[in-house]
Amino acid sequence: MKNSVSKKITIIGSGYVGLTSGICFAEIGHNVICIDSDKSKIEKLKSGKIPIYEPGLDELMKKNRDRLEFSTDLIYGIKESEIIFIAVGTPSNADGSADLSYVETVARSVAINMQEYKLIVEKSTVPVQTAEWIRVTINRYKGKDIEFDVASNPEFLREGSAVKDFLFPDRIVIGVESEKAKKLMLCLYEPINAEKVIVDTKSAELIKHASNSFLAMKISFINAVANICEKTGADIEKVALGMGLDKRIGKDFLNAGVGYGGSCFPKDVRAFIWISQQLGYDFNLLKEVEKINLKQREIFIKKIEESLWILKDKNIGILGLSFKPDTDDIRDAPAIDIIKNLKEKGAKIKVYDPKAMDNIKKIFADIEYCDGLDSVAKNSDCLIFLTEWEEFKHIDFDKIKKLMSQPIIIDGRNIFDLEKMKKLGFVYKSVGRG
Ligand code: NAD
Repeated sequence: MKNSVSKKITIIGSGYVGLTSGICFAEIGHNVICIDSDKSKIEKLKSGKIPIYEPGLDELMKKNRDRLEFSTDLIYGIKESEIIFIAVGTPSNADGSADLSYVETVARSVAINMQEYKLIVEKSTVPVQTAEWIRVTINRYKGKDIEFDVASNPEFLREGSAVKDFLFPDRIVIGVESEKAKKLMLCLYEPINAEKVIVDTKSAELIKHASNSFLAMKISFINAVANICEKTGADIEKVALGMGLDKRIGKDFLNAGVGYGGSCFPKDVRAFIWISQQLGYDFNLLKEVEKINLKQREIFIKKIEESLWILKDKNIGILGLSFKPDTDDIRDAPAIDIIKNLKEKGAKIKVYDPKAMDNIKKIFADIEYCDGLDSVAKNSDCLIFLTEWEEFKHIDFDKIKKLMSQPIIIDGRNIFDLEKMKKLGFVYKSVGRG
């Protein structure tokens, strides 16, 4: 999978997306400069360490080390490459809109420092019409009459399988407004065997927001159905299976649980609601998606209360903190809200996650951090599961039961078999089953 024409690329923002994209572009033969304003991140990368947990990224970086450069010097990055990717964060503002200040800062720096033609590629997830704003910004701040293009190339990788998703995507979306930009983008992605969807920049931006919102909607939909299952005695897993076999629906994203989290779905749904409002359309459907998602966390807490009655001074062990398995990312993870809520109610909390402990420590100083399952289980009145990590699937429940004060398990990800848990003698509650 090697490129015929090797390009020089600069990626500004070396987080989950920027770093994965940079390393994968190096893997397909390009020379990549990864820029980040965070000095400690760049120092770590220079010393050969990956600052995030992402399976396979480490090996791929080592393999392509000679095609990768890491730097905090933005001006150098702009000067060296014809193609510049913007992969900085676009978090939520308080009103739900996307905070585009990082994108704007980078666009201005590119404008001020570019000396010849540049293709500026929006990799960050941004609301529709952002490429237009980048264009306006560059025209406003560029010193000379230099030609440039702005392209939109939204990223669809998932944390936990980011390398595979980047190198073997379902499709590559390329939003361009000129032949030159189209040619450059196609050349970059030539070695990747996937359908290239070439559209205008606005459509590309909308593809990303609409895709994430649609997936979030699927999750909220199945969670709403799970709540009906709980009220009627139906089983959500059977319902989801029956629905998912219909090719028009598909079986993915039909797992009921404590709701979606992470750095994308919550903020992208919020941003899509916000931009729609700005454009004069009230996207009520998405408001409901968000409402159902947050409600799932409340319903989950209620299940704990129904099992333990008073939470004050109860020992609650939490297994899984990241918003999904195979990542250390805890941004907008349900675990954060749930820990806050349990703490407010006076519960004593112990936690364990295979990769996300360091990140959660930055939020909660006064909970107990354990080095594994057994220490969480010891003397717990209740164990709750919030992430379906593989190692949780192989738990020795006989041992765990002996360690716990009370055999109560509340499973927010439907990890375990209902009948098996009952046979083992647990009070076992999950989502939409039993
Ligand atoms: P991140 O926070 O992990 O990375 C962003 C990086 O940009 C940080 O390292 C930060 O230090 C750096 N940065 C900020 N301002 C800078 C500047 N002026 N100059 C240089 N570096 C700067 O974020 P992420 O998860 O990689 O997400 C980046 C974008 O990609 C977001 O818009 C996000 O919505 C989108 N996205 C994320 C995912 C995902 O799974 N994480 C998937 C698809 C799209």
